[in-house]
Amino acid sequence: MSQSTIQDIQNKLNNREITCVQLVQEKIEALNASTKNANNTILAEQALKKAKYYDKKLAAGEKLTGLEGIPFGVKDVYLLKGTISTASSNILKNYKSPYTATAIQKLIDAGAIPVCKENCDQFGHGSTNENSIFGATKNAHDDSKVAGGSSGGSAVNVAQGNTIFSVGGDTGGSIRQPAGYNKVFGLKPTYGRVSRYGLMAYTSSSDCVGPFANSVKDIATTLNVMSGKDGKDQTTVVSNAIDVDSFSTEIKPGTKIGVYKSFIEHPSLEPSIKASFNTLIEQLQSKGIEVSELDFFDGDTLTATYYIIALAETASNLSRIDGIAYGNRAMDKDNLASTYLDTRGEGFSEETKRRIIAGNQVLSVGYSDEIYKKALLVRKGIEAKFAKDFEEIDFILSPTSPLLPPTIGESMKDPLAMYLSDMYTVGFSLGGLPTLSAPFNVPNNVQITAAKGKDEEILRFAYAIEQSL
Ligand code: GLN
Repeated sequence: MSQSTIQDIQNKLNNREITCVQLVQEKIEALNASTKNANNTILAEQALKKAKYYDKKLAAGEKLTGLEGIPFGVKDVYLLKGTISTASSNILKNYKSPYTATAIQKLIDAGAIPVCKENCDQFGHGSTNENSIFGATKNAHDDSKVAGGSSGGSAVNVAQGNTIFSVGGDTGGSIRQPAGYNKVFGLKPTYGRVSRYGLMAYTSSSDCVGPFANSVKDIATTLNVMSGKDGKDQTTVVSNAIDVDSFSTEIKPGTKIGVYKSFIEHPSLEPSIKASFNTLIEQLQSKGIEVSELDFFDGDTLTATYYIIALAETASNLSRIDGIAYGNRAMDKDNLASTYLDTRGEGFSEETKRRIIAGNQVLSVGYSDEIYKKALLVRKGIEAKFAKDFEEIDFILSPTSPLLPPTIGESMKDPLAMYLSDMYTVGFSLGGLPTLSAPFNVPNNVQITAAKGKDEEILRFAYAIEQSL
């Protein structure tokens, strides 16, 4: 496996083996030729214009540095000025971004070139990328299977090499699970490390911006660029730059990992995932890593807690999208009420409406104490348990999903089963913890999770595993 695709490509540009225009042209052609339905918009014109600029720099004898000249993809829930940002929804089908999201702007400022807006589940609502007005994204390795979700298009583009990296969004697993289904790296950073400004809000208290890439180093490099405090997002925190060049190929002696028994013993865990996960743990043990089995909340409690909070927040966040301030408006209605009703009725998908209705219900008088406030209390308990566990261990290892990628068309019939398939990812989201989904020898990847702020430690550990297994 290459140490860094970003570095390899930039070396080629600097050595004049390829021009930036050729590189971008190649990617645009590959995106157009792809049959995976991974993209909502391809940004050919703007991207080629930027490529010409970097070619001029090279022609003037300068070297490209940082992310200069590197083509990347953007999940279609980020605003990118001048482009249509749909969130894969009917209501925002024609919505033109008035400004650019902070994280995307930082990448552009570092020289990266956005080449596409990527297909995803509508407003991040889903685990299969089938909840999209553009249709399902197909799995990178099998056309009959789902790409995973919600950031399916981003994972598929990276797996196919059509983007060098892509920026997804992870609220309850939307980077980690599609990374698993398509066998690439995907990171959900610590909550607050990357600004959410310009990301369409799903669950503001757990939405995270993160990269997909083909190597640990590329994850670290792109994370460094996107991270940082932002006056436009009050939840952002200061973080140190990760020193990517000092990554060691040796696993640190004495590293302690924990495995949650309730995850591994869950009856819905696919046997092939369980077997290879256990093999990986044994391999790590043979390299001197200490492994302990820990108790944790069961998957059903985690899923219920996450979905109560997620649905409540999305009902509130999406109330602003009513065809008045934003989005397509149903016209020629007799009165204001029918304008609102038809706009939102036609503009949102069945799945998104289900979530808005359920979210409003758990927030309403008579239900909120019994349901929503209880979920907040359970969340506190989950956070406390993580804090306790990380006093003893460095990392928690777990599968990313209990299932192999489902066949397209299967999951939408049974939303509850789809929600339950998120049981391994949602708990870490509720805790705001950094988690890497890594394509080691486990179907659907393995998740490596650490305490808040320990993103660098995860990437160092994963790099050592990447290089030594
Ligand atoms: N599948 C989860 C959900 O539908 C997570 C989605 C996400 O992280 N955006 O809520």
